[in-house]
Amino acid sequence: MAEAAMDDYVQMDEVDWVVFPEGLCSGLVEWKLLHVSPETGAWTAAFRAEKGASIARHIHVGPGEYYMTKGVMQVRGGADEGGATARAPGYGYEACNAQHDYTVFEEDSELYMTFLGPLNFTDDDGNTIALVGWREVSEAWQAAA
Ligand code: ZN
Repeated sequence: MAEAAMDDYVQMDEVDWVVFPEGLCSGLVEWKLLHVSPETGAWTAAFRAEKGASIARHIHVGPGEYYMTKGVMQVRGGADEGGATARAPGYGYEACNAQHDYTVFEEDSELYMTFLGPLNFTDDDGNTIALVGWREVSEAWQAAA
């Protein structure tokens, strides 16, 4: 992936799933990095998660949009706690600075998401563990390939 704006196309069924980095999730979460846009700081990925898997605590430094294509994901506590219960087929928008303490997949799930900025993974006290933006995901993806 180049560091200049350019057209791109990914035949998704010809790209293998890669295990999402340890420490950023629990249970089996896999991903496919589809695109990074250094000019905007945006990045787009597909995720696949096993039932019971979860994403570690993070804050969306920029907003993000997702499309659930399979399964169920509880975001911000789920609908019962004022968050969202994303059920395929479902679309969600997470605002700038959205805080996701515990994002859990209640069924085997898949989603597509574009992030307009990095994810700030934090510990329980709010200290940054990993700031994951277009450059970091690009490097992680290339290292896994
Ligand atoms: Zn999130």
